[in-house]
Amino acid sequence: MIYFCQNCFKEIPCDTAVCPFCGVDISMYDAHNFEHKLIHALQHPIPETVNIAITILGKLKSKKAVKPLKELFNKTYDPYIQKAILDTLFQIGTPQSLRFIKKMLVHESIIVRKEAEMLVKRTQ
Ligand SMILES: [Zn+2]
Repeated sequence: MIYFCQNCFKEIPCDTAVCPFCGVDISMYDAHNFEHKLIHALQHPIPETVNIAITILGKLKSKKAVKPLKELFNKTYDPYIQKAILDTLFQIGTPQSLRFIKKMLVHESIIVRKEAEMLVKRTQ
C-alpha cells in the first residue's frame, strides 16, 4: 500500500503522523475524503496538480474516479493529460475503463493512440 499526504499529495512513509514535506497532521484526514479530494482536484486550473491527482487515483485504483476521468478526457485538449488518464484507467482496470481505452485506438491524437495501443497489448 502506498501512502500520500492528503495536503501536498507527496508520497510519504506509512507510519508517519506528520507529513515530512508540508508538516500537516496526517491523522486529520481519512481515506474516503482523500479520494473525494483527488477527484475534485481533477478540475484544478494547474495542469501539474491535475496530473498528480490522475496518477494517485490510478495508484489507489479508485473506481469512483472512472466517470470523472472519462469526463475530463473528453473535455481537455491536452494529449499528455489524456495519456495520463488512459494509464490511470488501465490501473483501475474495470471492464468499463478498459472499454474506454480500446475506443481510443482510433483517437485523432497520435500520443493518445500510441498509449492506447500499448495498454491494449498489455491486456492480451
Ligand atoms: Zn504534505
